Amino acid sequence: SSTSLLVPATLPEKVLLKAQSELYNWRGCGMSVTEMSHRGKEFKSIIEKAESDLRTLLNIPEEYSVLFLQGGATTQFAAVPLNLCTPDDSVDYLVTGSWGDKAVKESQKYCKTNVIWSGKAEKYTKIPAFEGLEQNPDAKYLHICANETIHGVEFKDYPTPKNKTGILVADMSSNFCSKPVDVSKFGVIYAGAQKNVGPSGVTIVIVRKDLIGNAQTTTPIMLDYKIHNENNSLYNTPPCYCIYMCGLVFEYLLELGGLKEVEKMNENKAKLLYDAIDGSNGFYRCPVEKSVRSLMNVPFTLEKSELEGEFVKEAAKENMVQLKGHRSVGGMRASIYNAMPLAGVEKLVLFMKDFQGKACL
Ligand code: PLP
Repeated sequence: SSTSLLVPATLPEKVLLKAQSELYNWRGCGMSVTEMSHRGKEFKSIIEKAESDLRTLLNIPEEYSVLFLQGGATTQFAAVPLNLCTPDDSVDYLVTGSWGDKAVKESQKYCKTNVIWSGKAEKYTKIPAFEGLEQNPDAKYLHICANETIHGVEFKDYPTPKNKTGILVADMSSNFCSKPVDVSKFGVIYAGAQKNVGPSGVTIVIVRKDLIGNAQTTTPIMLDYKIHNENNSLYNTPPCYCIYMCGLVFEYLLELGGLKEVEKMNENKAKLLYDAIDGSNGFYRCPVEKSVRSLMNVPFTLEKSELEGEFVKEAAKENMVQLKGHRSVGGMRASIYNAMPLAGVEKLVLFMKDFQGKACL
């Protein structure tokens, strides 16, 4: 983070400092990125480099388009069904947390939506075995949320869609670029940038080109993948500064050695934290089944739940903030996105041990 506070930051310090140094005058062109015309050669070079670096990072095959859009991942909850099916088509959703649930509610407006499995009754702590899943053979796609941010449930492998199109769609908002992904397994991947790759305001959509061009007739132009694809994400004014910042993050992730290296770092950080929770003799507890625990979002509760408020307050005194769990689930949640350094997790773990020691006196 840019400050002494340990926040679940989006942007590595190095990236923030680079952006700061270029703020007034981008690479000697005399303009800030905030002042550029999105049709000028300077911005064109920025968006092209951002796309090319993202393609390298995720090894995105040629037959996929990369779109830089607006409206957050929430807009994609509607854009996906609007682009991939007619109102009479049916689609399957596997719901492992509240973002998947929100995606279902939006999809229901635009097509026939089946929830083939929901973890709600078990408070979203699991992902089912794929073999037993009853998929609808007529479904136009199967939708998953690759990492449920609030509940800390992450797919480690992906189900094979057993529908007539074989299309798998994934919301990767909270684990995008945190590890390598085989893009060719998906029809559409979408992600709001603000967890791992940039400021809020840009949403990245990776879509197989043959799926573009079938939007429902009432689809707003801003949600039509075809329009954005034909215009290289420049149909209207894009979120230029956010795209620029994402580009800096992509460059940085490549410098780190790519997503395999990033994944190793994330695994080390997560292991440290989960081991501390599991080794606390029940003082801390993570409700998520071990095999599907998220590398990005670590929810935990205190056995003595009356101490949770104090935990958050004391942590804030040590500059560790945003540790309160989502209002819908309570408890604690440590988000340890790419930009959270190992030292940040080490500090949290030490704090947790210390807090436990004092509470058990
Ligand atoms: N999907 C997931 C997994 C998220 O974590 C979020 C936001 O936190 C969203 C969707 C909604 O994203 P946005 O706020 O960009 O619309």
